Amino acid sequence: MIATIDKPAWVQLVPDEEAVSELATVFARTLVTPVVVYLKGDLGAGKTTFARAYVHALGFRGYVKSPSYGLLETYEAGGQKILHLDLYRIEDPEELEYLAIRDLFDAKSVLMVEWPDKGGNRLPAADLELEFGETEESRFIACRPFTAHGLGMAEQVRRLL
Ligand code: ADP
Ligand code: MG
Repeated sequence: MIATIDKPAWVQLVPDEEAVSELATVFARTLVTPVVVYLKGDLGAGKTTFARAYVHALGFRGYVKSPSYGLLETYEAGGQKILHLDLYRIEDPEELEYLAIRDLFDAKSVLMVEWPDKGGNRLPAADLELEFGETEESRFIACRPFTAHGLGMAEQVRRLL
């Protein structure tokens, strides 16, 4: 672990869904597996929209649904295994054990987690955290790295934006 970084590595304004797709496309070119990305922000902030855009940017053609009911949706695309988790509805971090995330998570995996705080210490630690928010001006996505691996990817995304 590197020292906790309070200030984000960068903040990108995403005024519309096209801007989210552009950012997700840069992530699709940049993320190196295995990688854990926490997606934080209020209900409706745009977490699922980003994960969906990421899966599509990797070339997946089908429907990408919100995992808020199924908890976990998985996709194979672009040589990656995307594990998209949404813990909003779990009541106890122990419920995560039934999903066997640690068994599913392998060298090709991108784990994206909405509401990671609900997973307690049952989740793999984040390399990157994306915070979805909104000012009067625009929606934004802020990126914070928590590992050296995450820092390298955060810097590479910023170079490509
Ligand atoms: P969350 O998963 O954080 O609860 P969603 O991704 O489901 O939020 O998004 C909620 C709504 O906001 C959706 O209707 C989506 O189309 C819209 N939305 C998401 N991101 C943006 C954005 N950057 N600009 C405009 N609308 C957005
Ligand atoms: Mg969601």
